[in-house]
Amino acid sequence: MLIDSYDLEVFTPPCEPGAERFAARARLKAPIDQVLPYLNATLRGAVYNPAAGALTWKKAGHNIAFHAYEIATSNVEDRDAAVHELGGLVDLVNRTWERRDEITPDLETHQRPTTMAVYKLLPKTNCKACGEATCFTFALKLAASQVQVEGCPALFEPGQARALDELRLILIDAPRIG
Ligand code: SF4
Repeated sequence: MLIDSYDLEVFTPPCEPGAERFAARARLKAPIDQVLPYLNATLRGAVYNPAAGALTWKKAGHNIAFHAYEIATSNVEDRDAAVHELGGLVDLVNRTWERRDEITPDLETHQRPTTMAVYKLLPKTNCKACGEATCFTFALKLAASQVQVEGCPALFEPGQARALDELRLILIDAPRIG
């Protein structure tokens, strides 16, 4: 197990004094930088910066950062939510490390596609079948890994196959989870 204990901190982000949502971090007792290339290979939308020894990832409204001695997340409701979120991230690191023999580590920095690049490939009918008011809002969430292409039924209609393939290509450039 790579992480067997950590200290938890919950705080108001310095850039948002008085905010009702909090940020939290797990301060680690042993480094986890060796797992970052494996997380980079498996987390959809992760951005790895080998020089900085950091990997960032967006998940369900949380901005997450993995560093050698710290895992941080934004946008938690309270301490209980922070315990739950960071506990899940620690499990993710430990599971990924245990599976490392099955994963080809990835040392490249993958850029997230821009919202506009994603939007250009959507049907642009604003049909609302995805639950969003506009295709642009869906594109914003798709580019931020908050939703998946399957959320847009119109992409699976005849005539959209090429756009769907291109979207999948720019959103997932390696077999990834998350
Ligand atoms: S379901 Fe697809 S086409 Fe319809 S609004 Fe959402 S993104 Fe646009």
